[in-house]
Amino acid sequence: MAVDPSVTPLYIDGEWHESEGDEAIPVINPTTEETIAEVPSATDEELKRATAAARAAQDDWAARPAKERGDLLREVADVIEAQADDLAETLVAEQGKTISIAKYEIEASADIARYNAEWDRRIEGDVVPGSTRRQEIDLLRKPYGVVAGIIPWNFPISVFVRKFAPALVAGNTAVIKPSELTPLTTLALMDVIQRELDLPDGVLNVVTGGGRVGAGLVKDEAVDYVTMTGNVDTGKAIMRDAADDLTQVALELGGKAPAIVTADADIDSAVEHIVGSRTINAGQVCTCVERIYVHEDVSAEFESEFVDAMADVEFGDPMADPDMGPQISQGELDKTHAAIEGALEQGAEVATGGIDIEDPPAESGYWVQPTVLTNVDQSMDVIHDEVFGPVAPIVEVESVEQAVEYANDSRYGLSSYVFSNSYSDAMQIVHDLDFGETFVNGSGGAQQGHHIGWNESGLGGEDGKHGAFKYTQLKSVYHNFD
Ligand code: NAD
Repeated sequence: MAVDPSVTPLYIDGEWHESEGDEAIPVINPTTEETIAEVPSATDEELKRATAAARAAQDDWAARPAKERGDLLREVADVIEAQADDLAETLVAEQGKTISIAKYEIEASADIARYNAEWDRRIEGDVVPGSTRRQEIDLLRKPYGVVAGIIPWNFPISVFVRKFAPALVAGNTAVIKPSELTPLTTLALMDVIQRELDLPDGVLNVVTGGGRVGAGLVKDEAVDYVTMTGNVDTGKAIMRDAADDLTQVALELGGKAPAIVTADADIDSAVEHIVGSRTINAGQVCTCVERIYVHEDVSAEFESEFVDAMADVEFGDPMADPDMGPQISQGELDKTHAAIEGALEQGAEVATGGIDIEDPPAESGYWVQPTVLTNVDQSMDVIHDEVFGPVAPIVEVESVEQAVEYANDSRYGLSSYVFSNSYSDAMQIVHDLDFGETFVNGSGGAQQGHHIGWNESGLGGEDGKHGAFKYTQLKSVYHNFD
């Protein structure tokens, strides 16, 4: 395993520090259930040191030529690629995703760094006409100052880069807290950056710990902007904590993505995309299809193909590169099982999968099998609550209008999917869905797009121009030169 044991877990002001706290958090390999490392929970005093270091470094960092900040991110992309194999192995060990998806996440992390580097000389403001004689108004884009980044466990390295890259290129400094379940890939990348790049002290800091440490960052007066990815309840707690100082928050939260399959959809293609989306990373992605609305004219054909394809999904040791690895933890496995049990109690039926696994890949490991639920209706909890596991409920609908009505009947509003070969149906659905992103006849986002949750799925938006500019605040300057 590629974790460097010499790395101690708090990276503050350009140096690794042993924590003075006495709380050790075990990091458990979800495939073997073995403890592979322990990280500390940063003390309040250590948090203060990290945010103070970021504060002290910020003026100089923002004053540097923008290209210098972009160049650092280009170098970050290079070192990620150079260390890709080691980072991918660490990622598999702590998170349980398959080795090919881990490699994809590492590649994506380099891409995120390089993409954000390109904003270095493109964070442009505006010059607008004044309202008196010989007046000009400049709208400047300035950094917020110190950004706190709080990361979930499902994409530990790509979300790490997704937080610090746009923050740093805009002239902010950052303190990042990985999830307590998956801190090792973040620490491994931080270690490589520190050893190989000329990163000024204090510009990027990493502290480990759980919710207490995250809340401590949010409440810290030195923090100007909090960007968090995680679940809805945590997001709401962060917003409440941030209210005391009116700290700006960006919250990228959970989802309950619907997939609508219309009467004239290409069924083979819809099945392929939905199976891929529901089972990638063992169903633990905020954009995963979580409920399927299929038109009654094609529901029998869709269901039969979909059930077969889900039954064919292989799961097992993620280093052997099957389609799926285990769930991240016993807690997440229990939640997925509870969602299946609850659906069955409410009248759903298992078409494939279910809780009991006939031939589990190994005695240890948090295994869940791909599961399709039929006889599902819109009132059931499995249609409304996020299920972070490979469980796919199918609901038959009579019309496009009913599909949209059901899809929008949700407190979430992140990703959504349409499979249709009717131009007018697809356009109607795209415009009527109350979701921040809609994929038509496909799946998978891009750095230059924009990933944004509506409704309770968040308050923020990442990627692309609009994501990059979120790390800047406008300043108006009135020039009077008469
Ligand atoms: P989580 O909310 O449990 O934890 C996320 C982070 O918040 C962790 O680092 C955790 O330590 C920290 N935290 C916990 N309590 C806190 C508090 N009171 N104050 C500050 N920080 C606190 O989420 P998770 O289980 O790690 O991640 C899964 C969730 O993330 C799912 O709901 C998923 O849909 C969502 N997610 C969303 C996106 C997106 O882009 N919208 C991407 C990935 C994951």
